[in-house]
Amino acid sequence: MKVDAHYDLLIVGGGITGAAVLHAASARGLRALLVDRGDFASGTSSWSSKLIHGGLRYLQSGQWRMTLESVRERERLLVERPGLVEPQAFLMPIFAGGRPGPAALSAAFWIADRMAGRRTSRRIGAAEAVAIEPLLAPDKLRAAIAYRDGVVDDARLVLRLVFDAVARGAHALNHVEATLVEEGGRVTGARLDDRIDGGEPRHVRATVTVHAAGVWAGAAPGAPLLRPLRGSHLVFAHSALPLHCALAWLHPRDRRPVFAHPWEGAVVVGTTDIDHPVADAPAMISAAEAAYLVEALQALFPRIAIDASMALSTYAGLRAIVVAPGEENRPPSAMGRDSALWVRPGLVGITGGKLTTHQATALEVLREVAKQGLRIASPQPPSSPTPATTRLQGRLGAEGAAWVAARPAPEQQPLLGTPYTLAELRWSMQAERVRRLGDLLMRRTRLGLVAPGGAIESLPMLEAPCREGLGWSAARWADEAARYREDWALRHAPPAENRRS
Ligand SMILES: Cc1cc2nc3c(=O)[nH]c(=O)nc-3n(C[C@H](O)[C@H](O)[C@H](O)COP(=O)(O)OP(=O)(O)OC[C@H]3O[C@@H](n4cnc5c(N)ncnc54)[C@H](O)[C@@H]3O)c2cc1C
Repeated sequence: MKVDAHYDLLIVGGGITGAAVLHAASARGLRALLVDRGDFASGTSSWSSKLIHGGLRYLQSGQWRMTLESVRERERLLVERPGLVEPQAFLMPIFAGGRPGPAALSAAFWIADRMAGRRTSRRIGAAEAVAIEPLLAPDKLRAAIAYRDGVVDDARLVLRLVFDAVARGAHALNHVEATLVEEGGRVTGARLDDRIDGGEPRHVRATVTVHAAGVWAGAAPGAPLLRPLRGSHLVFAHSALPLHCALAWLHPRDRRPVFAHPWEGAVVVGTTDIDHPVADAPAMISAAEAAYLVEALQALFPRIAIDASMALSTYAGLRAIVVAPGEENRPPSAMGRDSALWVRPGLVGITGGKLTTHQATALEVLREVAKQGLRIASPQPPSSPTPATTRLQGRLGAEGAAWVAARPAPEQQPLLGTPYTLAELRWSMQAERVRRLGDLLMRRTRLGLVAPGGAIESLPMLEAPCREGLGWSAARWADEAARYREDWALRHAPPAENRRS
């Protein structure tokens, strides 16, 4: 493990929040190290609903500031991260007798558009809605709101922030666990343990430590009480759920918002909101959650036959919900979604940050860091002044996209009917700190979610390039392949009849 003895900033947690803090800190002249005990983005930040969204639901609960921040950050990301954060056309169907009615919905979208500073929504009639999305059943459909949100590859967003920061001189290590060290009532750094190679732990000192450990933040001094809530998703092949646009609607059972949207050539359906026993228990969809999501699909698309066993894959993420006194027993969906920030000498803790608002969260964290005595310079301009335009530039950065484009044509063919190619895998293996097979198949690419059977049957085909690219022995490959198969079967396989509920 190559680390220096001292940093201005040590960041514990390489999800969207830690990555955004690293990115912002490195642009402002701070010497920063980020560590994650798993892969970058392996916590909640690769298991989100993948929407860069306007946070319309916060209006309903009177959280105007959250909607304002969300719509502004969404618009900014669409401009700053083309090829990675992309516009997504949505329809919100309005049914006869449904609540909220068309007037209330139109008003909410009007407010959000005013906040965004541009028109992104319009009310349309039932006939136009069915022309846009022929899977909608016309009976009972009264009208719809057509609007535009954003969609993202969440893991890639984290990776871009990390690797852009590394290109500016920041340090980032995955599969390295941090244990905070306190001296005389002040956090002075951490002990670092490599979870793959083992070896002697390293100690690093830091002027300030940022603890951005998501739902696992409870380990930090001064952390608030957290309640882990699970949100699960089904991923279908586009052929099984051939949507023309994204849909957002209310679940017929409990009127919670649910959605289905095209993503990486497949369709993501989500999400649930239920208590998860403890943050450290593996997060995966239960049979009851899968049935709940299928019930929502069947209500909206009564003419297509779909069930959970037809899914390509499943995934679940954990929300870090801050529990205020007296809120312990509130229903999950009634809990507030605010982030929490706390400070202790030498420490700034943060949990609950969103993908959509990561830049705003990072700047809030840096303001607290500055109060602890670190001088923060004005931000440097971004390393690549021309914004990326293509999918590959947005996801891999300009250098990665150019490297991939120069590979032989056969390596640029789509793998297993997905958007990914062997050339992209090779780039990740040489430049993006792949340390486990799951890093490559679940986060550098999303083959594990959108290829049939998690690409497990194709592992023999991937053995030679992976062993060559990562320098793995036959035994190491066998171990990695077994570990990947086991994790996929536990956390990502379509629900079987006998799955626990
Ligand atoms: C189901 C669901 C759907 C969501 N959908 C959306 C959406 O569509 N749009 C949106 O904007 N937001 C969405 N969110 C919110 C957003 O995804 C999360 O709030 C965000 O990803 C949390 O990021 P984080 O960096 O705080 O935590 P995480 O991503 O969980 O990162 C924390 C990291 O800390 C690491 N860590 C923990 N302890 C240690 C240690 N001791 N040493 C080193 N590393 C450690 C973990 O390994 C982990 O990688 C969703 C959330 C959920 C749960």
